[in-house]
Amino acid sequence: METCDVLIVGGGPAGSTCARRLRDAGLDVIVLDKCTFPRDKVCAGWITPAVVEELDLDLAHYRQGRICQEIQGFRTGSMQGPDVYTDFGKVVSYGIRRFEFDHYLLARADARLLLNTPVKTIERQDDQWLINGNISAPMLIGAGGHFCPVAHHLGAKVGKSERSVRAQEAEFRMTAQQLSMCTVDAQVPELFFYPDLSGYGWIFRKGEYINIGVGREDTGKISSAATGFLQQLQQQGKIPPDVHAEFKGHAYLLYDHGGRNILDDSVILIGDAAGLAYTQSGEGIRPAIESGLLAANAILDANNNYCMHNLLPYTAMINERFGKRQQQQKNWLPSGLRRALARKIMANRFLSRQILLDRYFLRSAVDTL
Ligand SMILES: Cc1cc2nc3c(=O)[nH]c(=O)nc-3n(C[C@H](O)[C@H](O)[C@H](O)COP(=O)(O)OP(=O)(O)OC[C@H]3O[C@@H](n4cnc5c(N)ncnc54)[C@H](O)[C@@H]3O)c2cc1C
Repeated sequence: METCDVLIVGGGPAGSTCARRLRDAGLDVIVLDKCTFPRDKVCAGWITPAVVEELDLDLAHYRQGRICQEIQGFRTGSMQGPDVYTDFGKVVSYGIRRFEFDHYLLARADARLLLNTPVKTIERQDDQWLINGNISAPMLIGAGGHFCPVAHHLGAKVGKSERSVRAQEAEFRMTAQQLSMCTVDAQVPELFFYPDLSGYGWIFRKGEYINIGVGREDTGKISSAATGFLQQLQQQGKIPPDVHAEFKGHAYLLYDHGGRNILDDSVILIGDAAGLAYTQSGEGIRPAIESGLLAANAILDANNNYCMHNLLPYTAMINERFGKRQQQQKNWLPSGLRRALARKIMANRFLSRQILLDRYFLRSAVDTL
């Protein structure tokens, strides 16, 4: 039987960040993951300086053998429409590869790792959790992403009645010839929005790698949206016609589209398992990291007594940090007006910078934790 103080299911950014803080405070932590690391994660791999700060990431160290692409501007527009170039004149984001990033964070957390170990059973025995019949801990954290088994245990209707966003992405290395024909500037990711702002497609270059994807609310077929977007990029001459992308899909919850029960006696959900990604951009790494830190603080303050009452400050901290859920947000304007408004914003450099980029994507006005 393996025992520990805190068992974390999922070694993504949420799980590794939480583990690191608990380890720093001297707790014995196991991180369990169904994959071996490094592993791929369907993601564009874009992070803001706030993430770097909250992770206390030493970029000079991180860059040794890993990609960390600086971003100084964006091209934005509507699908198949003209685009607007916004130059910030300084580094406003970074492009990382999740294959490298998640592995780095997990190793740095210094927790005991049980990899290649999917959760099969979750039981409660007296004051302990018993996972797979052979791992026990008094405190359990669900950091297993959208399909987290701990979220399921807490009653989430995973993949059923929840209103999720579906996304497809492909990331691959380009040949020297393809690189010479690619017109996308590595410092300038490009974002193209659907006319009703229900989602967007992106093309994002990180050194020799290119990341292409689309994400939208679950209307229509996401796979044909992704291949259609790839063809559009090829027709526009942004990438050469011989580029073949193998898209992989994933779904996740946006914060405003309804939450999950994130807490019970001796158990907390963090990151995508808790459904915290920002509604307007789909950015989920920062909420994953912040919830990991907040959960660790709540656990340390509970002083070894993890009854629900002692953990409730976690819910309060999440509500305070992420605000009241705006469930009806998308629908309070008639669709024609919404489209007209979106067109106006996307055609205007000032509005694109102020609303789309600064407010929704970079969240430059939101202080770090
Ligand atoms: C196409 C796409 C593009 C995105 N682009 C961005 C972006 O550019 N920037 C950004 O900030 N966010 C982006 N996101 C969102 C972001 O990827 C997630 O919000 C983020 O990964 C959440 O981190 P997490 O640690 O909560 O979960 P995850 O990163 O999903 O990690 C969960 C871990 O749990 C493990 N696990 C799952 N089930 C089990 C099980 N049964 N047993 C054991 N282990 C299990 C998994 O193997 C995984 O390692 C994107 C999402 C998608 C789908």
